[in-house]
Amino acid sequence: MRRKKEAIPTALYVHIPFCAKKCRYCDFNSVVSEPTTIDRYLHALAEELRSLQGQYSFKTVYIGGGTPSILTETHLERLLRDVVRYISSSQIQEYTVEINPGALTGNKVALLREYGVNRISLGIQSFRDSQLKLLGRIHSGDDARNAFALLRSYGFKNINVDLIFGCPNQSPDDWERDLRSVVELNPEHISTYSLTYEEGTPLTTDLENEVVAKLDESVELEMYKTAINRLGSNGYNHYEISNYAKEGRECRHNRVYWENKGYAGVGAGAYSFLDGVRTSNERDVVKYIEGIEGNKKIQSFRECLPFGQFASETVIMSLRLRQGISNTDFFTRFGCRLEEQFGTQINRLVKDGLMSYENERLKLTEKGLFIADTVMAEFV
Ligand code: SF4
Repeated sequence: MRRKKEAIPTALYVHIPFCAKKCRYCDFNSVVSEPTTIDRYLHALAEELRSLQGQYSFKTVYIGGGTPSILTETHLERLLRDVVRYISSSQIQEYTVEINPGALTGNKVALLREYGVNRISLGIQSFRDSQLKLLGRIHSGDDARNAFALLRSYGFKNINVDLIFGCPNQSPDDWERDLRSVVELNPEHISTYSLTYEEGTPLTTDLENEVVAKLDESVELEMYKTAINRLGSNGYNHYEISNYAKEGRECRHNRVYWENKGYAGVGAGAYSFLDGVRTSNERDVVKYIEGIEGNKKIQSFRECLPFGQFASETVIMSLRLRQGISNTDFFTRFGCRLEEQFGTQINRLVKDGLMSYENERLKLTEKGLFIADTVMAEFV
């Protein structure tokens, strides 16, 4: 098979690995740091951004974390200025920054507007204070509503809200109330993720010590179905396993990941993916800074995906999208049709009613959606 060379990356991810306090469920690459470390980090990040200058023409930029909004106004302005200085902004269609409702001021929102940010991802997680406390979040439900109103008052017209379900002690009614609250806010995009107990986190230790109990899988599945129904009946298109959007408001940046296309990442632990080669930067913040300051290699991981792995990852990721994967696109990228590479699995899954072919697109059926992990495992 002849794989076509992939186009240059169109998406840029910028990682800010700092948080005010570590949430109890979180295993992301984020730390609580001194202002001096943050200052050095932003200098190092600027250097890495500078190394990309003139190389690519990004269509989407996503500043995530960590908590980009805990940067001081001075640091935030420096970061935003460096992004526009080194990254050609003329082609950027979507520019997202992640915001924590507990770390926002009017001045910060004004800066985001001034530097061309046109999409906000607000990590609300829940409106219920007891659940926020259990998760170790730094904000309350009221803080979340106030942050949303503040963003709107500065003219942000494209806001995503993140919610978590499946938390200990959370009842289906609690989840219904969170969904009602988010619908009342009327954001353009909503992401709902079920809580995962990551190894080594305080919440997982609580689970192991039976301080908290995991919700039954059948309850979680009901919560997932409730989200699909409630959000669907309020005008949100369920376009990806965990994501819902008003018409035309699907996240363009994340679509690049779901389609397994090329992206560049800068910052500690950030991954890049270019033409089947995946790399990542040094994850440790101080080692990342020292690497850049000392003009040393900051790449800590590199893998060149063999054809089969690249093809199967592409199918698995694309199946997250409700529209599934186009056979024509797959052929253009990989030089073969889906059935040539995965015929046995596809036939079996279609026969079992877990997948379907519609208009050249292979996708999960509703039955398949509810056991998506099992279906996707067939393509590994
Ligand atoms: S704010 Fe986000 S990145 Fe920071 S600790 Fe909490 S979940 Fe993790």
